[in-house]
Amino acid sequence: MKVLGAFGSKTKNSQLSSYLLDEKTVIDAGNLIQSLGNDFLKLDNLLLTHAHFDHIVDLPTAIDTFYARLEKPLNIFATQEVINILKENIFNNKIWPDFSNIPLMNHSANTIIFHALEYFKEYSIGNFRLQPYPNFHTFGSCGYVINEALVFTSDTSLCYHTWNFLNQNKNLKQLIIEVSFPSSFNHLAVLSKHLTPTLLQNELEYLQRDDVKIYINHIKYEYIDAIIDELKAIGLYKRVALLDDNSEIEIG
Ligand SMILES: [Zn+2]
Ligand SMILES: [Zn+2]
Repeated sequence: MKVLGAFGSKTKNSQLSSYLLDEKTVIDAGNLIQSLGNDFLKLDNLLLTHAHFDHIVDLPTAIDTFYARLEKPLNIFATQEVINILKENIFNNKIWPDFSNIPLMNHSANTIIFHALEYFKEYSIGNFRLQPYPNFHTFGSCGYVINEALVFTSDTSLCYHTWNFLNQNKNLKQLIIEVSFPSSFNHLAVLSKHLTPTLLQNELEYLQRDDVKIYINHIKYEYIDAIIDELKAIGLYKRVALLDDNSEIEIG
């Protein structure tokens, strides 16, 4: 997995959520254009975790930018709730054309094809096995269990599914989980269904193993120093690795 964007806010030094599994399959569209360039044309599959803007922002523009050169449709996988949100609010012929009804230039297929995912079903998508599960962040949002090796929470609230997966299946050895705000923002984090260092620490009480490699993502970049200080203060800093743009993880 190559991290194209590891952060919860876009700044000069931080890019929004995108995780390239291989050249054909990517999770979330926070940073596809700058990071991939023409390699965007190789993509077959985009999996979305939810419809928040920081996870979809590059999708409409990338489709438009590369339209004339696209030789195959882009398959977009998400829950039906998220697909409906995209159709009603982005690809509605008001904000942006409905590319799911516009054929490719030299192809009878439409430019984007939506595929609805159901929670807890296992799917083969590209070269990967993916199982979406509810992460209690927004209506229809999901995390993914990837290749029965890595649990990817995406933006997540307190979520017992994450810990149940890891406690019940010892093949799962990697976890990417978010910490968006410092703990002084716990109130805001709970309201916006995110985690902070102390909320993560409380959640980790449910993990009955110490052999899981834990990666942190989705830090709001303006708080990165405060979050690192807090992780050190509560003794979590050595237990986790912070993801950065361009980080690479061997899944499995
Ligand atoms: Zn987000
Ligand atoms: Zn979100």
